[in-house]
Amino acid sequence: MSESRQSWGRYPAIHQSSESLQWRDELPARLAQWQPGLPFGRGRSYGDVCLAHNQRLLDMSSLNRVIAFDRHQGRIRAEAGISLYDLLTVMVPAGWFLPVVPGTGHATLGGAIANDVHGKNHHRNGTFGCHIERLALWREGQLLECSASDNPALFQATIGGLGLTGYILWAEIRLQAVSTSQIDAITHRFHNLDDFFDLADQYDSSHEYGVAWLDCLASGKDRGRGVYFAGQHARYAEPSRWRPLPLGMPLTPPLSLVNPLSLRAFNYLYWHTKPARPTLARGPYQPYFFPLDSISHWNRMYGPRGFQQYQCVIPSAHEREAIASLLDAIAEARQGSFLAVLKRCGDVPSPGLLSFPMAGTSLALDFPSPQRLQPLFERLDAIVRDAGGRLYPAKDAHMQADDFRHFYPRWQDVEQWRDQHIQSLFWQRVTQ
Ligand SMILES: Cc1cc2nc3c(=O)[nH]c(=O)nc-3n(C[C@H](O)[C@H](O)[C@H](O)COP(=O)(O)OP(=O)(O)OC[C@H]3O[C@@H](n4cnc5c(N)ncnc54)[C@H](O)[C@@H]3O)c2cc1C
Repeated sequence: MSESRQSWGRYPAIHQSSESLQWRDELPARLAQWQPGLPFGRGRSYGDVCLAHNQRLLDMSSLNRVIAFDRHQGRIRAEAGISLYDLLTVMVPAGWFLPVVPGTGHATLGGAIANDVHGKNHHRNGTFGCHIERLALWREGQLLECSASDNPALFQATIGGLGLTGYILWAEIRLQAVSTSQIDAITHRFHNLDDFFDLADQYDSSHEYGVAWLDCLASGKDRGRGVYFAGQHARYAEPSRWRPLPLGMPLTPPLSLVNPLSLRAFNYLYWHTKPARPTLARGPYQPYFFPLDSISHWNRMYGPRGFQQYQCVIPSAHEREAIASLLDAIAEARQGSFLAVLKRCGDVPSPGLLSFPMAGTSLALDFPSPQRLQPLFERLDAIVRDAGGRLYPAKDAHMQADDFRHFYPRWQDVEQWRDQHIQSLFWQRVTQ
């Protein structure tokens, strides 16, 4: 039976149906009978990268089994639909952790590879794709194993390949050893953008993880104020169980709950309730890495018109001026977000061809009602382009085709490897 699907931002609102794949060996029959246009993980991409041109998705999330786990060497092989949460639940008690996690644990292994996701430790560990040892890909009637030595060109095209090169059935990841399930996190409030860059320099050398929340509505002397969260795995701690509170948005309100009034109040309170001095606290890894996951369906609060996340990265040489210009443009347009995130990226190269991060700083903000924001996005895009930065396909629903080709010059290599039965709305929009 088919189900209706949307991306996380619920924009663009283009109807999509999905059918689910339960077993790996069922794939050839499923492809022949359902004729999907794209593999689908858990739809945690915000825009149209996870939407099929023919509106038929193959939901891979029931392929969620661990195939093999080497607890001595720190390797795990699992089916591609398993969530990062489930992987962590298996490996953390055995003293291992995923080397890269994005801001949601609901992403699947296949989705994390296809968008070559990054985490709060990009400056140390690079992207998710840097840690993939081997994967199995079904494309055009063949099952191929790919690694740095077997089918290496296809391996590269599949990492960050936006699901276009075929259906990933399983993948094997090299893990990182940890002593405990706890994170030692420093919360450090800062007053302006210069402070953010100084803190990033300071904490990147001492801490594995770093990310900052920014009050994008603060202006004048408060412009660029925010809260920096540096973290590292605790070396000694009692085992603990994390019990999330049962919070969630049970339904979509008729209007967005995110408006200038609610944003200003939230941002003011969030900044002022953080301690004035840097504070160290120890806690379970889940709320540190996945703070938003504790409110299920939080995307519904943007109402039926959905939202778009704008995420760009600016190279180090221009990061200070360009990030300031982006914030000024957003403030002038009287737009903003309760979730604005600044993150330093490092220079660890990814094997993938369309990897988003570059050495510099990434800014991500959510905007309600993206339908009416085209003029603002054009202004922001021009700042990013002039600074030599780029936009993130996993979050995008507006990037111009010329910009995409300029930001990702190796897109034609991926196009060469594209399975001819697969096409996403994103790829169609930016390449054709
Ligand atoms: C709250 C939140 C925080 C986030 N934080 C970050 C972050 O910090 N860093 C970051 O990089 N991203 C972040 N993201 C984005 C998210 O991690 C990515 O979009 C991720 O790819 C979503 O995975 P998914 O399994 O839901 O895939 P989907 O969104 O369903 O699909 C993503 C792509 O993967 C392809 N795909 C899925 N499964 C397969 C498969 N088995 N074989 C081949 N292709 C496949 C799809 O075709 C599509 O192109 C965040 C998202 C949310 C909602």
